[in-house]
Amino acid sequence: MPTIQKSYAPNARIVPTSKADDPSEAENPYGWGFKDTEFQALDNGNIVLTGNRYNISGIEMPRLLGWMGGQLAMPLRWNDVAEVRPVLPSAPREAAGFLKSLSGVLAPDQIATDPETRLRGGHGHTGEEIYHLFFNRIARVPDMVVFPQDHEQVVAIVRAAAEHGVCLIPYGGGTNVTSALACPENEERPICSVNMQRMNRISWIDPVNRTAEIQAGAMGRKIMAELAEHGFTMGHEPDSVEFSTLGGWIATHASGMKKNRYGNIEDIVLDMTVVTPDGTLSHHSVVPRESIGTDVRKWIFGSEGMLGIVTSAVVKLFPRPGVQRYGSIIFPGFEKGAAFLYDVALSGLVPASVRLLDNTQFHFGQALKPAAVGLAKVKSAVEKFVLERVKGFHLDRLAVVTLVYEGTAAEVAMQERNCATLAKRHGGMQAGPENGERGYSLTFGIAYIRDLVFRHHMMAESFETSVPWSAVVELFARVKARAHKEHAARGLPGKPFITGRVTQIYATGVCCYFYMGFYAKGVEHAAETYLEIERAVRAEILACGGSLSHHHGIGKIRDVFLKDIQSPAALTWLKKTKVALDPKNIFGAQNLGLSADALARAANGEGRV
Ligand SMILES: Cc1cc2nc3c(=O)[nH]c(=O)nc-3n(C[C@H](O)[C@H](O)[C@H](O)COP(=O)(O)OP(=O)(O)OC[C@H]3O[C@@H](n4cnc5c(N)ncnc54)[C@H](O)[C@@H]3O)c2cc1C
Repeated sequence: MPTIQKSYAPNARIVPTSKADDPSEAENPYGWGFKDTEFQALDNGNIVLTGNRYNISGIEMPRLLGWMGGQLAMPLRWNDVAEVRPVLPSAPREAAGFLKSLSGVLAPDQIATDPETRLRGGHGHTGEEIYHLFFNRIARVPDMVVFPQDHEQVVAIVRAAAEHGVCLIPYGGGTNVTSALACPENEERPICSVNMQRMNRISWIDPVNRTAEIQAGAMGRKIMAELAEHGFTMGHEPDSVEFSTLGGWIATHASGMKKNRYGNIEDIVLDMTVVTPDGTLSHHSVVPRESIGTDVRKWIFGSEGMLGIVTSAVVKLFPRPGVQRYGSIIFPGFEKGAAFLYDVALSGLVPASVRLLDNTQFHFGQALKPAAVGLAKVKSAVEKFVLERVKGFHLDRLAVVTLVYEGTAAEVAMQERNCATLAKRHGGMQAGPENGERGYSLTFGIAYIRDLVFRHHMMAESFETSVPWSAVVELFARVKARAHKEHAARGLPGKPFITGRVTQIYATGVCCYFYMGFYAKGVEHAAETYLEIERAVRAEILACGGSLSHHHGIGKIRDVFLKDIQSPAALTWLKKTKVALDPKNIFGAQNLGLSADALARAANGEGRV
């Protein structure tokens, strides 16, 4: 145990040695995730996830396509596949003065203008963006991509952009699902994507005060692995943790799956350094809490690349949990599961992660299993018999809770006992740690399914919200009903796919996360149609008392609703802040409703009472 005195000695800090990138971790330039991993349809109709990274990798799944087709009431055939044909962008706009002024600052390999790099810089992972990438074309992409290696280089890039009239878009991992990286088609200036991925080091770890300074372009998987070597975690684990970055988490106001134990990103970040058009925001010390008037660093959470570039942040560290265990509980229906979650949230003994899957997601998980043979077949038949005949559950109604417990042995034991007692109260049946672990880890493999179903003529995407406890059950019912209504109103083929889960719990409410999709073969403008339906469903969510977003953010796909959730004065503050802090609109991605038009109106005094 370190002594208190040590905390005052700067040399108590550890400076981890930086590790070279592992070439086996190359990313797929035209889809989700690692290059070696994708869902493929085999000639026998089975689906397999290639590679060996995930708990479902290498397993033949005989039921997946059939099950998904059943959900859509349209056949998905293994050999009926749309051709993916990404279109590379045409020549970039000239930015000779900008590039010349950077030539003394950046090495030649820190500037890219090739079409592939520019194309990747021009999108995140919004369903609409990927659909266009696969089957149409991305309308506008950055004219160049720069790869700064330190804070001073970022300062030089922002200065050069101001001087030469270039629009900058900061780029972390490119995993956002709000079209936040999409280049505005009406932007007349050259656009430069500032890719932060070479600023990926942990600068120091302070084991005494439990903090670390990390460069903003570091990806979650690297942060996790390097902190683990020193016995720590920062505890932030969004489902995109493998590929998203610290800077992206801050700029999108992200939330991790273990937030119950470690907090959301704003709870974990203690300090940050940000390059803005007015200079660098930085702070003289890192302390547990301060009362210093309005803390401008807080404005950067959720700023979506519109105010500056985060170059590093100081985060809290937690000791790696001594014990990690999983659990799963089956409930007779979604309502019972939600009632269980409510009791857990108020009990004060909340596991690191608690998720409630609706019935469709339970069956989705089953469809990702291999064919049961031999003993496994007998076991699964027995389990089904016990579930239905002995315990009286209905397979078409039950809901499942997965749990991740982390902490000391005593903490975990207490939480497990608490959950077991509360589960009984709501008719829950323990379904074992293996199912809990499988369910929790499945999320990382499932992220690759979107690319498979797109190839098999399905348009689909996820969306999320947060609601008070009193609205949870109603929200699920209304979202599903509205999705069906909008699908029917457009005469789309078959049935919509709509399923949801509760992913995070608070004392005051929950975060709900949905997948929605439809069969898109022959549907003109499928991506735009999806967006229309999602907007209608979002209106339903707002009518139900839900939020515009719990963690994905606004980007360019939800800005139309800002006027419904903020007062005119609040929106005026936002626009005027932007105009005052970035008068040349260097950070011109046009997220958060900050279009060039809106900013011009704000600059002319619009909104003043
Ligand atoms: C499969 C999948 C699962 C996901 N799961 C979750 C989840 O569990 N929780 C969650 O919160 N989100 C989740 N997301 C959404 C996404 O991963 C987050 O929004 C994430 O925080 C984005 O980080 P990024 O580094 O990829 O940022 P990017 O996508 O590169 O950028 C997002 C925004 O941040 C800005 N930005 C990026 N870096 C900086 C910087 N250094 N300085 C200033 N601005 C910057 C960009 O300009 C852009 O506006 C998921 C997405 C996918 C595809």
